[in-house]
This record gives sequence, structure tokens and C-alpha cells, in this order.
Amino acid sequence: MIRIGKPIIEKEDGITTFKAFINNDVEGRNEWLWYTTDEKWGDYFCPEVADAFVLPMILRAVKTYQNIVVESSISEKLFYNLNDSVLYAVTKAYEKKYGKQTGEVVKIECNSLVSTNYKPMAIGTGCSLGVDSFAVLKHHLLSDDCPPSYRITHLTLFNAGAFGSRDVEGARKSFQKEVEKTRLFANSIGIPFVWVDSNTRSFFPELSFDWCHTYLNMGIVLSMQKLWKKYLYASGYSLDNISFDIDYCAKYEPYLLPHISTESTELISASMNMRRSDKVKYISEDRLVQERLYVCLKEQQANNPNIKNKYQGSYLNCGHCKKCLRTMLQLEILGKLDLFKDIFDLSDWDKEREQYIADVIIGSKNNLMLANLYDSMLEHNYPIPSKSLQYVKKRRFHNRINYVLKRIGLK
Ligand SMILES: [Zn+2]
Repeated sequence: MIRIGKPIIEKEDGITTFKAFINNDVEGRNEWLWYTTDEKWGDYFCPEVADAFVLPMILRAVKTYQNIVVESSISEKLFYNLNDSVLYAVTKAYEKKYGKQTGEVVKIECNSLVSTNYKPMAIGTGCSLGVDSFAVLKHHLLSDDCPPSYRITHLTLFNAGAFGSRDVEGARKSFQKEVEKTRLFANSIGIPFVWVDSNTRSFFPELSFDWCHTYLNMGIVLSMQKLWKKYLYASGYSLDNISFDIDYCAKYEPYLLPHISTESTELISASMNMRRSDKVKYISEDRLVQERLYVCLKEQQANNPNIKNKYQGSYLNCGHCKKCLRTMLQLEILGKLDLFKDIFDLSDWDKEREQYIADVIIGSKNNLMLANLYDSMLEHNYPIPSKSLQYVKKRRFHNRINYVLKRIGLK
């Protein structure tokens, strides 16, 4: 079983730590899971319930068929929805993907249930300054078309694993750099900013971030149920791509978030009605976005020892990583790339563009983001360069030859 000890709070040098000890019997991992923030926000940590420590353990429990035993309390609503819905759904999705059929579904047990509403007041959202994040910000803060009770009052940045998982200290340094950047942005628009550091990602060394980011980030949100009335989590996929794919938790967020909300905190998958291309179009006219959009993976790559060519330039967005290329092409399709020339390094774009377009066309069969980009080219009558089409033809020819050689056993 996975045992979650009673959560405790510690204060030292202006930093508040909220932590619980985790005993994972099957995998032999026994250590503290912790969240830290500065003292001001630490007052909103919620030691009455262990919800913040339960969420990160869900996938671990499902993957290893261990029950979770909480040696304190859980929110009643969360307890009900986990045992009556989520654990069954996630187990079935896991077994379907990995060809298992055990008939087992793990359970959560606890000492007691709490159904208190802490009457929080804040409406929060993460502020990475990327496309998803700006789309949420624009609708829920910068424009006037949002109902008042959904208007953002606080911005956040969490270290739940988005800054890399291999080099933990490097990731932490990148997170701290981003905290300062986001703090400046929040100050510039007059919105309070909340940061939370955590070691939650280290409990999933073998799992990709796509598997687990919703559980880890929402665990951090539930650590502060006295603060968050609503929390808007920027959706990675639009509703037309919803599916119970265990490898991509973002695809089943519209189901998951209402089921891991509590009496106090409503978790919302935001901007589900927009595909990536719609979001880029929606935000690209905005002056603030033209100055601050930040999609680049350079920080994550700097913390990945397997990547040799790390970006050395001075632009905000390196112009070479997959997220930069994807965004630059989308902006070009919309005829807006020039508006972003001060924040994207476009020095190699002309050289790399044709090959990248070919990669998008080929990849569009198996990758939803690339499929959306290719659809957007067709929707906007974007002129596909003849060189790109030649690359595609050549690649498909090679793929066919390789397929035949494999079939006849020569490869
Ligand atoms: Zn980049």
C-alpha cells in the first residue's frame, strides 16, 4: 500500500513548507512530499486535509495496484469521486493501453472525511506566458467578455515538473528564474502572484510529464484550498480531441478536473473551445502578447544532459526548438510572424522552414498538434513550398522501402 502520513507545516526564514511522509511499500520509496512558498501565501496551506498529497499518488497507485491509505483526513467530495469514479476510469484506461486485465481497482482509505468549505475568494491560473496561458489570460482578464465570477484575480507559477526532471537542481534554478519573470509580468498588470516550489515530480522518474502534469499541478492547487475558489487550468487540447488516453492526461482533463475538485476549490479546464491554431489567432493581435509571448523550451533543454546544442543567443524564444518552430509556422500561416520578430530568433527560419513544413505534413498523421497545424495551412490556403513537398515524397518513398525490406526480413 501507499501510506500518506499526516500533513504538517513548518516555517523557517520566511518560507513555509507543507509536507507529508509517503511510504510506498511495493516500490520501497519512503520520503517526504513537500510544497514550499513564501510566508504570506503559506498561510493558505490546508493541513486539515491530505488532498494535496493524494492527487500525486493516484497514478503511482494505479500503476502498481496499491491501495492508498491516508493517516489523516480527505475532503469528502474528493474521496467520493476518487473511489466511485476516477480510480476505476484511470485503471481501465491504463489496462487498455498496456494490455492488462486484472479486474483489480485500487481504493483510497482515510481516518476521517472533511466537508468544510473554507470560503476562498481567489480565481487563479498558471502564468507561463505561453500560448495556452495567454489564451486563458486574454479571455478571463484582459478582455471584457468573461462573467465576473470567472475573472482572474491571482497569477501562479508552480514547480511541478515543467522545468525538466533529470537535472532536479537545474530545473529548480530555471523555475526560480521564471518566478522572477512572472512576478515582473504580474506586477506590470497589477495582479498578485503566487509561486509554489515542490518535489512532486521526483515521485515519477519513469513517467513522461504528459502522463502526470494535471495530477501534479492540481495537487499544488489543492494544497491551498483556503485561497482558491476557482482555478483555471489551461487546456492543452480542444474538446474535439477528448479521449481517455492514459499517456496524455490533458486529453481527459474535462472529465478529471470536476472529479478532483473539492467543496472549496473548483478546478476548471479552461479554453477547451479553442484548438491551438485558434488560440494563436485569438492572442496574436494583442500588443502585450507580441512583447511577452514565451513558448521556448531552451530552459528545459539547458537542464537535459542528453541535448548537446543548447541555445546561446539572446532572444526570448530560441527559434529552433519544437515549440518555437510550431508557433513561428502558425504565426506565418496567419501572416503575423513579423509582429513577433523582436522576441523570436528568426535568423535560421528561412533555412529551416521548408524542412519543418515537410516534418509537419508527415507528422500530422500521428500527432494532434501537427495535425492542427497542417489543417490550419489548408484552411488559410498557405502556399506549401514545392521543396517541402519534395521532402515529403522522398521521406514517404524511404518509409515504404523500409517497410517492404522489413516485411521480407532484410531489415
Ligand atoms: Zn525555443
